[in-house]
Amino acid sequence: NEEETAPYLKTLNEEQRKAVLTTEGPVLMLAGAGTGKTRALTTRLAHLLNTGRAQPWQILAVTFTNKAAREMKDRIAALVGDHVEGMKWLGTFHSIGAQILRRHAELAGLKSSFTILDADDQTRLAKQVIEAANIDEKRWTGRGLAMVIDGWKNRGLTPDKVPANEAYHFADGKGIDLYKAYQARLTTLNAVDFGDLLVHNLTIFQNNADVLEEYQRRFRYMLVDEYQDTNVAQYLWLRLLAQKHKNICCVGDDDQSIYGWRGAEVENILRFEKDFPGAEVIRLERNYRSTPSILGAASGLIEANKERLGKTLWTDAEDGEKVKVRGVWDGEEEARLICDDIESEQSKGRALSDMAVLVRASFQMRAFEERFNTLGLAYRVVGGPRFYEREESRDALSYLRLIRSSDDDLAFDRIVNKPKRGLGDKALQVLHKIARAQGVPLMAAARIALESDDLHAAARRSLVNFVDTVDRWARDAKDMTPADLAELVLEESGYIEMWKNSKSPQVPGKLDNLKELIQAVSEFDTLEGYLDHVALVSELSEDTGDGQIWLMTLHAAKGLEFPVVFLPGWEEEIFPSKRSLDEKGNAALEEERRLAYVGVTRAEESCRISFAANRQIYGRWQTAIPSRFVDELPEEHVDVVSEPGLYGNSASDLASHSSFDGAKLREDAYYDNPGWRRARASGARPASSPPLLEGRAKTVSVSAPGASKFSKGQRVFHQKFGYGKIQSIEGQKLTVEFEHSGPKKVIDTFVEAA
Ligand code: ATP
Ligand code: MG
Repeated sequence: NEEETAPYLKTLNEEQRKAVLTTEGPVLMLAGAGTGKTRALTTRLAHLLNTGRAQPWQILAVTFTNKAAREMKDRIAALVGDHVEGMKWLGTFHSIGAQILRRHAELAGLKSSFTILDADDQTRLAKQVIEAANIDEKRWTGRGLAMVIDGWKNRGLTPDKVPANEAYHFADGKGIDLYKAYQARLTTLNAVDFGDLLVHNLTIFQNNADVLEEYQRRFRYMLVDEYQDTNVAQYLWLRLLAQKHKNICCVGDDDQSIYGWRGAEVENILRFEKDFPGAEVIRLERNYRSTPSILGAASGLIEANKERLGKTLWTDAEDGEKVKVRGVWDGEEEARLICDDIESEQSKGRALSDMAVLVRASFQMRAFEERFNTLGLAYRVVGGPRFYEREESRDALSYLRLIRSSDDDLAFDRIVNKPKRGLGDKALQVLHKIARAQGVPLMAAARIALESDDLHAAARRSLVNFVDTVDRWARDAKDMTPADLAELVLEESGYIEMWKNSKSPQVPGKLDNLKELIQAVSEFDTLEGYLDHVALVSELSEDTGDGQIWLMTLHAAKGLEFPVVFLPGWEEEIFPSKRSLDEKGNAALEEERRLAYVGVTRAEESCRISFAANRQIYGRWQTAIPSRFVDELPEEHVDVVSEPGLYGNSASDLASHSSFDGAKLREDAYYDNPGWRRARASGARPASSPPLLEGRAKTVSVSAPGASKFSKGQRVFHQKFGYGKIQSIEGQKLTVEFEHSGPKKVIDTFVEAA
């Protein structure tokens, strides 16, 4: 058969080929990390196009991030060329949902120019709703309400569908009313939040059979990557759309489900076979990404989870280096160590873009960013709070949003008096009052206010000026490029001037960011296109070749791979996170462990895990305990590497000391670090200390705390620091006043009696 000999099929194994060639009917590909799920899915898409089974616009392909969508597009282009251009429906659930909603906005009571709110706007709006309902804001916060509403939307529930018994969890039973009020506000604002993108789609499909049928007919083939992380709303959306042709192919890995906290349900995998009877289930077991040690370490780790479907993975890759685990003194030291590694890899010819630092929480990024900057190492941050969340970006975007849609009250509120125009709280209260009373947006309320005598002369003059200027910009927008418009607006509004006159040390950075923003706008033909892009991007920076280290959260790293991966901060309460430990039951902890599995399995050749003994969190120093995940890594795949510096010893001290051994240092660290010792005494660490630590600890003899062979006041000699006198003894750690270099903390094994 000619079809089965297409060159792109040669790069697949038999199971993958089956996933590509089973074009008709439902297919579920369930397989572990790095087994080539995404590759098979991409090839399948190329195959559908190449064999003329579907036109590019008849295929719906869902990826988890915009970056993944871009990569998939590139790979398909390499296989089928220009054909890829017509692929209008390749993107994230959000971006495809937004496209559909724009075409049928009126069916959801919106105008097609609707604004997509980000999390910050959403919280502000929820707060306003709570205020308007006279509910105690201290007890029931805007953020809390936004989370509850998100939860319902993740399950596809509009206010009329929320089960009555769930309403009682929030604001003493007022939850559903608040949800209704929140939705009403959104409609007035001609806005949607992220959850709405799909929920409105669902409502439109359910109420308009003709619209649903149009899409059911259009999407002859549907493909979904990272299926394990779909929530119920997404699942329902897929199921509706797939009903006609039933050619839906979903790929996923239950061990990589890491969005439970956002409503993802692994059960969707199990449901698939029920909803699509006769589905072909394909399993892949060969891993093409990682060395045996990396794979072994990851597999051992995930075995500690009870809730799994379970699967085998193998590779015939060459044995590589073992997974390195290193303990360091503090976060700064950790950043230094990792950057040393990066530079040393670089000097061996490794491209910076082949290396990634993956953190659990975005606050961990700062130490690395600082170190990268100090060393002049180019890096890029993916995901997390970033460019568009900065104050100046949000302000500039608010100007543009208001120009696009004069109904956008959140934008209006944000910039009407920024820079200061003499439109203080009093004047704004007048506008809000009119807006509420007449059910109109603030901009319309401003026009009404100007016809009345409710405003002081000064405020009135400012407001006339403001309204006229925004109107003029809206007219200008029609025959200017969006970038020219953005520049004009930021100048004319006095916004740039405002920062130039400010004494804040952050001003240069802010001005740079504004320039960067105009640069970003210039890549779009329409203001609308740009604003949509901003609302939807989960990652900002574009690929810029091979010159930059990757820095991102573990969540953002899903589906990606790098030759060298650094995993810092493997400490209890950071990873697993404090929140997951506080939660009852094991679900949250197991999700953290899956996240660790995702992290380790990103690595192709080298995986380097680290933990610090001391960590500054939100400005406070804390002693840290190595993560239980460190202990769960099977010993045979792991190297615990000696890390100098824990106790003020320099690398040369350690190197010159023949009896030094990393495991011992780790064990010393236990005895030496009050936090760890306490934890151990109280049994906070797993009582049967797992293989890695216990096994190794047994091979070294460690004197019990307090059993130092030295005594206070004794004179000692240290190879590096010379002669000194012992000031205090704490376990094996001595504080010595050295004659030439002052007080130092050293371990007693490194000094001798003088
Ligand atoms: P994840 O679960 O992390 O998303 P995945 O299952 O999607 O992983 P891919 O990213 O598709 O895996 O593939 C992992 C690596 O293995 C990629 O570098 C890919 O090019 C390579 N690969 C996949 N299939 C094959 C194959 N049949 N032969 C050689 N290399 C392959
Ligand atoms: Mg993948």
